[in-house]
Amino acid sequence: MAEKITAYRFDSLDQTLSQLNQEDCALIAGGTDIMVLHKSGRGVPPKIPNPIIFIDHLSELKRVYQNQKDLHIGSCCTYSELLEDPLIPQPLKNAIKTIAAPAIRNRGTLGGNICNASPAGDTLPLLYVYNAKLLLRSVNGDRVVAISDFIQGPRRVGRNHDEILAEIILPSIFAEGAHVVFEKVGNRNADAIAKVGFAGYIRMKGTQIEDIRFAFGAVGPTMVRSMEIEKKLVGKNMPLSVADLAQVVAAFDKIIKPIDDQRSTAIYRKTVALNLLRYFLTMKQYQPN
Ligand SMILES: Cc1cc2nc3c(=O)[nH]c(=O)nc-3n(C[C@H](O)[C@H](O)[C@H](O)COP(=O)(O)OP(=O)(O)OC[C@H]3O[C@@H](n4cnc5c(N)ncnc54)[C@H](O)[C@@H]3O)c2cc1C
Repeated sequence: MAEKITAYRFDSLDQTLSQLNQEDCALIAGGTDIMVLHKSGRGVPPKIPNPIIFIDHLSELKRVYQNQKDLHIGSCCTYSELLEDPLIPQPLKNAIKTIAAPAIRNRGTLGGNICNASPAGDTLPLLYVYNAKLLLRSVNGDRVVAISDFIQGPRRVGRNHDEILAEIILPSIFAEGAHVVFEKVGNRNADAIAKVGFAGYIRMKGTQIEDIRFAFGAVGPTMVRSMEIEKKLVGKNMPLSVADLAQVVAAFDKIIKPIDDQRSTAIYRKTVALNLLRYFLTMKQYQPN
């Protein structure tokens, strides 16, 4: 017979946070990662070591709204809900469309993708280049942390046990002029885990680069991003000289250190990642005529 576990489903976020303050519980949003992580066998319920709290139904975690130039996304919005929302930027919708199949997209949440902290999480490269901030809520108040500080390693995040990720904030996303690209390379267009993920963000002033950001997924323990490399490109004119392009590619060649695993080889991942970088830096859309 299956073991019984304690499960809570409160009506409000406040009640949920209060329980979380008293007891170390496992949070379940869509359950599409956590159920797989704790699976114990065919036809047998998963063995989750702690009591569980469902949070997927909490209206406080399902709002999407604009605050000045920032976009706030409730952590428990499912992918299917985000695809329908007019405020969600197209590059994020493009990334979501590559995730799993509709059944998983009906359950899986953006907050779950972040808190699961998989190196191959498909939304993560984009959230890094959007400089996403995370609003964490507990009975003791709120704190806001950069996504790059929150995600510390594979399946490792800087969340205190009494905290819930409430919102994902994309700062200044409604400011004009940035060109954002998302690319995923897997065995097929969707319903496949990424071999490589890539996001690029560029804002130009005339022919000059005003802001530029890159993040690579599935080629390291967390997303690979380098502010140092990005800074060196600010102020340069497009198209980049052959020497500048070669320098950026060589700099990422040094810091991208993928592994061989059941999905791909390190050499394939590195080659594809650098090709995506070259492709992004030479795209026609923001090159002067
Ligand atoms: C068949 C299948 C295919 C998949 N394909 C893809 C794919 O192509 N790309 C991809 O990126 N992922 C994929 N996934 C993984 C998964 O669907 C996503 O990572 C999804 O976003 C997880 O969201 P969830 O709400 O289901 O998370 P859950 O499983 O509910 O939670 C994941 C973890 O995050 C914690 N958590 C969740 N929400 C919060 C919160 N608000 N605050 C604090 N902690 C929280 C949970 O406690 C748990 O530790 C796939 C999964 C399956 C089963």
